[in-house]
Amino acid sequence: MTDPVSIPADLALPFWIDPLLAQFGQRIINDRVAHALLLTGTQGQGKMLLACRMVNALLCLDLTESGLACGSCRACHYQQAGTHPDSHLLQPEGSEQIKIDQIRALSARMTQTRSVSPYQVTLLTPAERLNRNAANALLKTLEEPPPNAVMILVANQTDRLPATLKSRCQRIHISSSPTARVRQWLIDTAPCNEADADVALRVNQQAPLAALSFVTSQSLPRYQSFEQDLLKVLSARQDPVTLVQEWVDQDAQEIIGWWVAMLRNAAWSQVDALPEQVARRHQFYQRLLQTRRLLESPVRKDQLYESLLIDWQKTGQGIEPLTQSG
Ligand SMILES: [Zn+2]
Repeated sequence: MTDPVSIPADLALPFWIDPLLAQFGQRIINDRVAHALLLTGTQGQGKMLLACRMVNALLCLDLTESGLACGSCRACHYQQAGTHPDSHLLQPEGSEQIKIDQIRALSARMTQTRSVSPYQVTLLTPAERLNRNAANALLKTLEEPPPNAVMILVANQTDRLPATLKSRCQRIHISSSPTARVRQWLIDTAPCNEADADVALRVNQQAPLAALSFVTSQSLPRYQSFEQDLLKVLSARQDPVTLVQEWVDQDAQEIIGWWVAMLRNAAWSQVDALPEQVARRHQFYQRLLQTRRLLESPVRKDQLYESLLIDWQKTGQGIEPLTQSG
């Protein structure tokens, strides 16, 4: 999976996913499933969790009354074993993009007759990684969908999807839930203490499943040393070159994501900052967002990091560490 948020296999359905899945189940029961669906929402809200449960429900031969997969029929067993012939997964293969050959292969598979389940289901993630040719080819498939084929697209960044593609899909959006309720859910589910829950939510833009993954994978100490290293660069107690060498072996999206979180937090608490300081921080923030996209193609990470750290030395003064600010 390309989704960096790992979901515990035995996780009970979170309170904000439950009603969305129930609604979808009713659509299956009433035979009103759209042939293309687009799942949107911030990363870590549970889009993949919802998408996988939707796929299971579509394939199941003995749906429960509430429209959930039974978990014990022939189709459910195939799906659990990863061998269901009517279930397809499309994600970037060997590169950062989903390419036209993958869409062609999928179209060929979809012309074959369904063998087990009432629907033939494709899960495509993340949809913003479709390159232009692949998106055009997919659009053609969506214009003339094979009977009983359902395509579920999962997107983290909908602004990067062609409008024509979006207009072909029925949208299911996972909105943010009230902060206090999410916080309590995290404390109970992880489980963890209140302080750790607050940091995990702040680092992960309040996205509950990303925060859960952050707590359960023991990322907090790593985040703290990341933050301390950046602050030491500002006070010349850490050599940027050494830091770059450490970073090249680490997950680049995580590093940039954490940096973004630090800047975002500073933006909320910069009442004392001077206007030019605020402007510089905003510029740097935009640069980090661009870097995230650059990292989807092969790049020299060391050069990227070096130049970001040079910029950071001019920008970061006065930024408070997120792990001690509340
Ligand atoms: Zn079943």
